[in-house]
Amino acid sequence: MIDIKKLNQDSENEIKSVKTADELFVVEKKYLARGDGEVVKLLRQLKDLPVEEKRKIGPEIQELKKYIEDLVNRRRSELADEAQKESEKYFDRSLPGKPVGRGTAHPISQFMDRAEDIFTRLGFETVDEREVDNEFYNFDALNTPKDHPARDIQDTYYVMNPESWSLKHQSNDTRYKIQDTRLLLRTHTSTAQIRAMKDRKPPVRIISPGRVFRHEATDASHETTFNQLEGFVVDKNIRVSDLIGTIKEFFARMYYDKDIKLRVRPHFFPFVEPGMEIDISCIFCNQKGCSVCKHSGWLESAGSGMIHPEVLNNMGVDPKIYSGFAFGFGIDRMVMVYYGIDDIRLLYSGDLRFIKQF
Ligand SMILES: [Zn+2]
Repeated sequence: MIDIKKLNQDSENEIKSVKTADELFVVEKKYLARGDGEVVKLLRQLKDLPVEEKRKIGPEIQELKKYIEDLVNRRRSELADEAQKESEKYFDRSLPGKPVGRGTAHPISQFMDRAEDIFTRLGFETVDEREVDNEFYNFDALNTPKDHPARDIQDTYYVMNPESWSLKHQSNDTRYKIQDTRLLLRTHTSTAQIRAMKDRKPPVRIISPGRVFRHEATDASHETTFNQLEGFVVDKNIRVSDLIGTIKEFFARMYYDKDIKLRVRPHFFPFVEPGMEIDISCIFCNQKGCSVCKHSGWLESAGSGMIHPEVLNNMGVDPKIYSGFAFGFGIDRMVMVYYGIDDIRLLYSGDLRFIKQF
């Protein structure tokens, strides 16, 4: 015997008397579960009934199902409203809100932005150059001899492309000159000296900041990826004094210190003649000696020099008419000194606890 009325009444009573969402879920399952709910059980009994009964009771069961579903839904929203009201009783509107996390620029980006801003004010144009370049722009055009150790795979990351891969595997074939075609991750931003001059004529003042890559074992002061800022000027009558004056002005603005002193030491770089390393007076101890300057009173700051005539030629500039200077800053080391960071690997760790300090 199928007693729809009883089921109708029972379900209504049970649903109306539940006090929580969990209880409601149990009741809902009892009546409406697909496998063994009371409604499904009724539907199963249908098949034993005569056809006429089926026609009459079938729709009634469907109606019952719909009725229970509506009751459940109504009770669910009632319970939700009650829960909301209950929680509002205890809601303290005077409590401070949850803090929203804010991002900041990475210390290297902050430093780069400031450096770029200073050079812009000094009349320099900023140029972005590619990180993957070829051996010509990275070495040959910058007057680096074919047998220079920096070209070795111990120092430079070469990029596998189908061409160089096949060349590597046919290295006995004399038709190919591997040296001319290899792609690499640039080892310095000096590639900009040649690249940027392809569509420019002097006078130019250019900086080119960016990432560079070297095949190195990493430790507290060496990373395989780091940042440089390249700068160069080409014009008539450019002299060493222009180079020194520019570097001095840059650091005076960077460190808000009018009295920064410079020390120039001769150094060899293939792409400059003469080449020099420039040190600035220690901004932390005023040359009295401290741990940052290792008690020397000086901080290494830039590799630089007058652009080699051969490189000027490669820029498409006549070295008999024009001259120029170039310099490169190691940004990471400057950032480390500036903020007192003692391990370069922290800069690339992606550790928010570290980055949030800046
Ligand atoms: Zn010092």
